[in-house]
Amino acid sequence: MSGISYVLDCGRCGGESTLYSSTETKPFEYNSGDCLKCGFSYFTKASLLNKKELVKLRKQMSFKSKKLTNEEKNNCGEFDNLYLK
Ligand SMILES: [Zn+2]
Repeated sequence: MSGISYVLDCGRCGGESTLYSSTETKPFEYNSGDCLKCGFSYFTKASLLNKKELVKLRKQMSFKSKKLTNEEKNNCGEFDNLYLK
């Protein structure tokens, strides 16, 4: 996995924090960070919006179709098995 590492101020305590960022990871970009002072830690985690959340987001974003088709409701097989554990 290739990417860029930064040293930043921690958003929680202001201490020294590392940030790792990669836009080359597939199928989505990855970011993670760890604070050396307070231990605050975060990372990119994949999940699915539930149906209600997705419909609400579509309305907010003026997405062309507000309702989910049967195809959109279905599990995406291997992708879901790999990234939505
Ligand atoms: Zn911190």
